[in-house]
Amino acid sequence: MWTSTSTDVFQHALTAMSAHFLMSLGQTLFHRYLGHWRLGGRFFKNHIQFHHGHYYGDHVVSTHYLDDGDNNTLFFLAPVAVVVGLSYLFLRLDLFMVHLAAMSLSFYGHVYVDKQYHVAESWLGRFSWFRRRQQLHFVHHRHANCNFAVINYFWDRLLGTYRCVEPTRQTAGSSAATPTAAANIRDLLPPPQRLRNPITTIAALQNS
Ligand SMILES: [Zn+2]
Ligand SMILES: [Zn+2]
Repeated sequence: MWTSTSTDVFQHALTAMSAHFLMSLGQTLFHRYLGHWRLGGRFFKNHIQFHHGHYYGDHVVSTHYLDDGDNNTLFFLAPVAVVVGLSYLFLRLDLFMVHLAAMSLSFYGHVYVDKQYHVAESWLGRFSWFRRRQQLHFVHHRHANCNFAVINYFWDRLLGTYRCVEPTRQTAGSSAATPTAAANIRDLLPPPQRLRNPITTIAALQNS
C-alpha cells in the first residue's frame, strides 16, 4: 500500500514528465506549422532565413552557434506562459511548482540542445543519445518536411513526419547533398539570404 510520500513522489514525477512532453509536443507543432509554413509570418521568416540559412545541406555545423539574435525563442515564451498560467488555476501549489520547474528546464533544454547540434566538437557529442538525435536533426536540415522535434522524435512518428538517418549520410562532413534534397529547403530561401553567409554561399554554389 502506498504511503502519502510515495504518492507525492509519483504525482510530482508524473507532473514533471507531462510538462516536458507537453513542451516537446508544442515545440514540434510550432516548428512544423509556424516555422515551415509561410502562414507563420515572422516566425517562418526567422526560422528559414536564419537557422536554415546558416545550416544548410551538408553544412550543418560551425565552430560556434550562428545566431543573428533574431531567432524564434522568444516566440515560444508567450504560449508557454499561457500554459503555465492555466496550470496555476488547476494544479495544487506543490504540483504547480514542479510543473513550472519542469517547463522551464524543458524549455531551456530544447533551446540548448538545438544549438549544440550545430556546434562542431560539442561536449554533448560524447553521449550516444545526443549523437542519434543530432543526426535526425541534420536530416531535417536536408529534408525540411520531416523530423520537426528536437528531443522527442516519437512526436514525428505519431505525426507521420519521421525520417530515419540515411546510412550514407552519417556525418556532417560527408558527401554533398543531392540537388533534390537540397532544393527542398533552398526553395524556401529568398535569394539574398543564400549569399549572406559563407557556409550558405558554398552550399548554394555547390547545389545550383
Ligand atoms: Zn526547421
Ligand atoms: Zn537546426
